[in-house]
Amino acid sequence: MTARKPLVAGNWKMNGDIVSNEQLFTALRADLGRASLSQVEVVVCPPYPYLGQAAAWLGDTGIAWGAQDVSTQPNGAYTGDVSAAMLVDLGCQWAIVGHSERRQLAGETDQQVAAKVSMCMTRGVGVIACIGETLEERESGHTEAVLGRQVDAIAAALVDPAHPLPPGRVVLAYEPVWAIGTGRTASPEIAQAAHRFVRERLAQRGYGHAGATRILYGGSVKPGNAASLFAMADVDGGLIGGASLVADDFLAICRAAAVA
Ligand code: PEP
Repeated sequence: MTARKPLVAGNWKMNGDIVSNEQLFTALRADLGRASLSQVEVVVCPPYPYLGQAAAWLGDTGIAWGAQDVSTQPNGAYTGDVSAAMLVDLGCQWAIVGHSERRQLAGETDQQVAAKVSMCMTRGVGVIACIGETLEERESGHTEAVLGRQVDAIAAALVDPAHPLPPGRVVLAYEPVWAIGTGRTASPEIAQAAHRFVRERLAQRGYGHAGATRILYGGSVKPGNAASLFAMADVDGGLIGGASLVADDFLAICRAAAVA
């Protein structure tokens, strides 16, 4: 079986300010020593204006930092957008794409998400591509159809031979929409079934590194449920929203991933 180093990414969403960020960075720096980072890869994704602050505080720690989105376009008249090239210019190693809040609130389509994956590939930015079904889709029996459609779009970008990303830089995050920010977590068995489906689908669509691709679970992960989720065979870490803003909680989740 392919060894996959667990990865925990904190999605701060539109939260934080210079002072509170500094407190969080200080706590992460103090606690996440090289020893734990050799067992878990940690990525922190603050809002765009604070990426420079992340670089200053985390640059020498082994904790990586990333953006919460990236443009579908390389440059030009796209007011408000930030390109993959700009992220690289800042030293930013990762970008989240296709988060359900962007799919729902900004109307992002599967094709736009795929274009963002392609932009990251072109510039060598590690990509954390999010997928997940709504409660209505799950309850009406459409989970696999929705995940399949979302994965197919991402896989079509990943198999482009022009700009391959090393497998360690391609991460998918299964985030059932009904579990995000709701306190309602998927059971480990539900997560495992979805992750297995996603991995098999990636392989079926011709992505040769499906076995090496880390698939994170996201949706109300807390210190109390992290270990049981991360113990599942195809759950390779977590994408953490609310709990990533609380240093002790985020650190506990990172430790749970390190020993999984
Ligand atoms: C997220 O926004 O990616 C997320 C998983 O949020 P939460 O952990 O708060 O459910």
